[in-house]
Amino acid sequence: MNDDVSDDPERRPATTAITAGRGANGTSLATPLWASSTWVSSGLVDARRRATGQRSAEFYARYANPTVRAFEEAIASLEGAQDALAYASGMGALTTTILALCGAGSHIVAQRQLYAGTLAFLQGPCRRFGIDLTIVDGTKPGAFAAAVEPGRTMVVLAETPSNPLLELVDLDEVGAIEGPFTVVDSTFATPLGQQPLRYGVDLVIHSATKGIAGHNDATLGVIAGNSDLLDEIWGYGVLHGATPSPADALNALRGIRTLAVRTAHQAGSALQLAKELTASPYVKAVHFPGLASHPQYELAKRQMSHSGTVLAFEVTGGQAHASSLLDQLRIALVATSLGGPETLVCHPATSTHASLTPDEQLTAGITPGLLRLSVGLEDPNDLVADFHQALQPIS
Ligand SMILES: *Cc1c(COP(=O)(O)O)cnc(C)c1O
Repeated sequence: MNDDVSDDPERRPATTAITAGRGANGTSLATPLWASSTWVSSGLVDARRRATGQRSAEFYARYANPTVRAFEEAIASLEGAQDALAYASGMGALTTTILALCGAGSHIVAQRQLYAGTLAFLQGPCRRFGIDLTIVDGTKPGAFAAAVEPGRTMVVLAETPSNPLLELVDLDEVGAIEGPFTVVDSTFATPLGQQPLRYGVDLVIHSATKGIAGHNDATLGVIAGNSDLLDEIWGYGVLHGATPSPADALNALRGIRTLAVRTAHQAGSALQLAKELTASPYVKAVHFPGLASHPQYELAKRQMSHSGTVLAFEVTGGQAHASSLLDQLRIALVATSLGGPETLVCHPATSTHASLTPDEQLTAGITPGLLRLSVGLEDPNDLVADFHQALQPIS
C-alpha cells in the first residue's frame, strides 16, 4: 500500500480515487500494463520461495500480477480496507468467496432481492454441493440476524442497493451480526457511495464491470476486507482460477480516477429523471433511494453519500407498454449492465430475471411493466426529453 497517499483519513474519497494504487509506479503517473503470465526464478531456492509464498508476487499470474495489484490497492484504499483481491468478474469474486468459506453442511443467509446470477448460484450449484440457503427480506429489521443458525451459518450475504428494485439493507445491522462472515455486494453504490466495512461488515464485493470501470470495457470483480480473511480466500481462489485480466484491471484503475465526477453527474441526472418519471401519467411507480417517497429514504441518507446511478420504474400498461417505450427511446439504449457512460434500459422480466418463473418474478417484485434504468453521462435535459417523447399511451 502506498502509505503516504492512500490512508490519510483527512483526505476525502474523491482525492483518494486520484492517487490510490500508484504505490509501485515509481515516477510514472499511469500504471504500467504487466501482461506477463510468468516470472523467472534465480534457482530452486528462489523458485520454492515464489511458489509457496502467501499472495506471492512475481511467480505466476494466477497468484498475482502487478497491474492487478495496483487496482486491488486502489480499491482497498477507497473501501478503508486492509486489502483487496480482484477476480475475473463480479460472479468470479462472489463464487470464489462463497466456495472458499463454505462446505457441505454450511448454511447461508441471503436476501430475497439479489443479482440474478448470485441467486442462481446459491440456489443451484451451492445446493448441489450441500450448502443450504435461507432467504430473508433484507429490508425487514432483524431479518438476517434471526435466520442465523449459530455454528452452521457461515455467510450472511446482503446486496444494497439491490438489483433491480433498489431496496436497501441497513449496514449497521449486518455489521453487528456475530458469528458468520458478513458479506455485502455494494456494486450499485460503488466505493464512493458507501463503505460497508466501516459498519463492521467483514467483506465488501463489487462487480467492477459496472460503475468502477465505468466504460463498458472491462469485466472484473473485487472483494475487500481484512488481510487474514483475504489470505484464506486467496488460497482457494488460486485453485478456482477466476483470475482477472491485467488489461481489465488497468481499465478499471483508469475508471477509478474519474469515478467521483462520473457518479456525481449520474446520480444527479438519476434524481432528475426519477422526479420527471414520478410526474408522468404513464408511470405507476418509481424506485429510487434519492426520492423522499422511497420507503428507505432516511436510511439512504444515513449510509449513502449519493443515492446511486440506477433507478427502476413501472409503466402503467404492463409488458406491451414497456416494449413500446423501449422502441420509442432515441438516446437511451436497450442493454443490460450499468454504471457506464451510456444510459441503458433493461426489462428485467425478459432479460436479467428471465430465468425466474412468473410467480418467482412477482414475489421478487419483477412486474411485466418494470424497467431498470442505468443513467449515463449524457446531458440530463436530453435524457428527460427522450423519456418524455417516448412515454406515450399504448395504441
Ligand atoms: C453485475 C453484477 C454482479 C455480477 O458481476 P459480473 O461482473 O457481471 O460477473 C453481481 N452483483 C451485482 C449487484 C451486479 O450488478
